[in-house]
Amino acid sequence: MDLSVFSEMESEVRSYVRTFPTVFSTARGELIRDVEGREYIDFFCGAGTLNYGHNNPAIKPKIIEYLMGDNIQHALDMATSAKQEFLEVFRDVILAPRGLRYKLQFTGPTGANAVEAALKVARQVTGRRTVVAFTHAFHGVSLGALAATSSSWFRGGAGTALPDVVFHPFEDYFGPGVDTIDMLRTLLDDASSGLDHPAAVIVETVQGEGGVNVASAEWLKRLQQVCRERGILLIVDDIQIGIGRSGRFFSFEESGIEPDIVTLSKSLSGYGFPMSLVLLRPELDVWKPGMHSGTFRGNSVAFVGAVAAIREYWEKPGFEEHIDHRATLVADRLAKMSGERPDEFSSRGRGLLQGLACTDPAIAKAISRESFARGVIVELSGAQDEVLKLMPTLTGEDELLVKGLDVIEEAAHAVLSAPRAATPPSAERATTP
Ligand SMILES: *Cc1c(COP(=O)(O)O)cnc(C)c1O
Repeated sequence: MDLSVFSEMESEVRSYVRTFPTVFSTARGELIRDVEGREYIDFFCGAGTLNYGHNNPAIKPKIIEYLMGDNIQHALDMATSAKQEFLEVFRDVILAPRGLRYKLQFTGPTGANAVEAALKVARQVTGRRTVVAFTHAFHGVSLGALAATSSSWFRGGAGTALPDVVFHPFEDYFGPGVDTIDMLRTLLDDASSGLDHPAAVIVETVQGEGGVNVASAEWLKRLQQVCRERGILLIVDDIQIGIGRSGRFFSFEESGIEPDIVTLSKSLSGYGFPMSLVLLRPELDVWKPGMHSGTFRGNSVAFVGAVAAIREYWEKPGFEEHIDHRATLVADRLAKMSGERPDEFSSRGRGLLQGLACTDPAIAKAISRESFARGVIVELSGAQDEVLKLMPTLTGEDELLVKGLDVIEEAAHAVLSAPRAATPPSAERATTP
């Protein structure tokens, strides 16, 4: 495979092309093909951008129709028929049946854009600066979002101060014996703890980049309670675990919490088009017209994709059961693998974000590589890239899902039965979200 133009022309910052060194061309559903016709089962889905699979046949015709009809594509944030339909469908199919009341703020198209807006509005509303984020958190790499991202690898790229964020241990960071919500409460209530009264707490209910760390419903409920009692806004960053990845549209539905602010992006448009959204409790909508701007707020074709996806999967019954069924297949397989090799593996996750944590990060890396060689795309996450992160499509039949799991299991067997070289930990981190 000739990748020379990429190494010659593209910045050294390129990452995934190093992990999956081929030239991809076409894709459909769970499968991606490269230019040599090799097929890969996609267990990565653009880090949760392609939850409904590639070129989804229920969404594609709506997009083609929209384009062929010379419908307006770019309109800043002027009113368009595409945005109108999205607002109505999101209200009627997503928010109302869940008893949720939010105003919608469209931001620039990346997840980080949504996080920036969420942090800004929280600071404006409260007049406070400090934000509490968690160990192993990932919220994007623009400066405001990066300040709330814990990884020293990403933070090292800033070259400037990343102020006004304090990191607090996530659930089980110190093991099950240490209650990190009690700890937060103690710090907040001690005027001499050094923790300034925060504007907001920002949390992922399952940390995607951080190593598939799952917050329990109980922990989330208690976090919400601590925030509410003290007038601290709770922001749930649902960019990766939202839009069905957890098994429900919003990842926080199962816990019953109701965040003050929610960020959505990755799979929102249903088709891989960039689109981001901030949901605000109506009382928090203190923005003045145009105060937070952006050229690409509301990409019409993304609205069309989002509407088609919501109508196809969330308006009709049965999708949650379908995700649960697929999630069980994945979780059971990973539990079996860890049960057989408890010294090597443990498994965790929620919905279709499942992790196989490897005791030895070199093993995780080798399994990802071996899986790719055998035709499955599966990424790593965690502080040492020690967790194999399985994110198959939410849609599709059992056959390819089971085949993908078989390949990963076979790859793991092959890696574990190969003579163990003393691999030094890799100095470069080649992957980013
Ligand atoms: C991917 C991600 C972001 C950042 O989104 P970008 O589009 O890469 O800016 C923020 N938060 C979470 C949880 C993410 O997974």
